[in-house]
Amino acid sequence: MPTPSFFLTLGVLTIPVKSEAAARDKTIGFRNLHSKCGALMNSQSFCATCQEGVPKDQQVKGYPLGRDQFVKIDPQQIEALDVENTKAMEIKAFVPMKDVDAVYLGKSNFLHPVDQPAAKAFELLRRAMAKRDRAAIVQYIESSREKLGLVRVYDHCLMLHEMFYQDEVRTAETKVKAVTVAPQELELAVKLVKAVEGKFEIGGYTDTRRAQIEQIVAAQLEGQPAPVIQAPVKPLMAADLMAALAASVEQIESAKKPPAKAKPANKPPKSGDDKSDARAAA
Ligand SMILES: [Zn+2]
Repeated sequence: MPTPSFFLTLGVLTIPVKSEAAARDKTIGFRNLHSKCGALMNSQSFCATCQEGVPKDQQVKGYPLGRDQFVKIDPQQIEALDVENTKAMEIKAFVPMKDVDAVYLGKSNFLHPVDQPAAKAFELLRRAMAKRDRAAIVQYIESSREKLGLVRVYDHCLMLHEMFYQDEVRTAETKVKAVTVAPQELELAVKLVKAVEGKFEIGGYTDTRRAQIEQIVAAQLEGQPAPVIQAPVKPLMAADLMAALAASVEQIESAKKPPAKAKPANKPPKSGDDKSDARAAA
């Protein structure tokens, strides 16, 4: 088995999965080369090949072709492309947010009007977008590249999400053959999903590892002994898929029963026959 990136777990069900980047930033990173010998220079403009410092007028841009391979480019040729930072963020279209797949979205920034005179126009745009339930596709120059973004209504301001371009997003390729699924197998899998259905509440998720480190640091500062922290449990692969599905349903359903813990409220399981189903399948 190739090394899994993760084990997707639900109850006692464990699925080894491979994780691959879905999008890649294609920003061109020019490097500085010594025009005489074509070698890469360090940040102090020193050529290790010639063992000499290289003045700016003897440097050229290197377009990366591969590892340690560059094409020499005359800086004057690309100078024209190095647009002055105009700070213009041009709205290209207003689109329904649901049409934008999450794979295209990058990091997020709030947009606020800079001062009172700007507030009115900003508010008009924000309200009109809210009324039409649309987000804006924008293009702008930042760090010498033309970026794509999505601006949407968020609380009382606007949110800018950086976006990947289409050619930066890869197609999903699976390396396994198609498998067949029996109706009763799917039925059990759906039952498992239903058992864990709930409302999305972001506050219900915390970084326990960060909290534990903070506990250790706090104990250290107070001269206390370090708290005992349990190592996370490593997932185990179940030998039988149907048994794992059934056992997971049973485990989750029974955990939900008596002292109603602060889990998001689900529809109560249809009484009784869940357990016998699980046993029959196991
Ligand atoms: Zn050199």
